[in-house]
Amino acid sequence: MICPFCRHDDSRVVDSRPVEDGTQIRRRRECPECGQRFSTQEVALLNIIKRSGATEPFSREKVLVGVRKACQGRPVNEDDLVLLAQRVEETLRSTGQAEIEAQEVGMAILAPLRELDEVAYLRYASVYRNFASLEDFEGEIALLRALPSSNKVASSSKKSPENKA
Ligand SMILES: [Zn+2]
Repeated sequence: MICPFCRHDDSRVVDSRPVEDGTQIRRRRECPECGQRFSTQEVALLNIIKRSGATEPFSREKVLVGVRKACQGRPVNEDDLVLLAQRVEETLRSTGQAEIEAQEVGMAILAPLRELDEVAYLRYASVYRNFASLEDFEGEIALLRALPSSNKVASSSKKSPENKA
């Protein structure tokens, strides 16, 4: 790392310690050229590129706000939502990218939300994917019906005549 004082192209780490519950590392460095000391901080980057082109750090809280709205009146508790936001962050981090399009965050929310509550999922998808007509809803519902999920298996087995035999 370049010395911020004399621009010497190397510096030596004299101390290194975890901060913020170990999610960040702070290093004390010394320039071998001018002897000045300075600090650096290392963080696992996860920035979101907004539609405007601006970037901001990923925020679980923002995921929660969006999903909480979609879940209003649904049998979903706060723990479920916190877990969902955690899964979204893990999915995004597992891409290994430092910057992710806001749209991909929306996509990463859809799958776990569908598992959590299909009505909330439809609400969220209708806004996020700009459903414009009943046909859009019908198409999505048809997809939901076609997808295997634990909820659906339980409810369809009640109606399905072949399971009674
Ligand atoms: Zn220096």
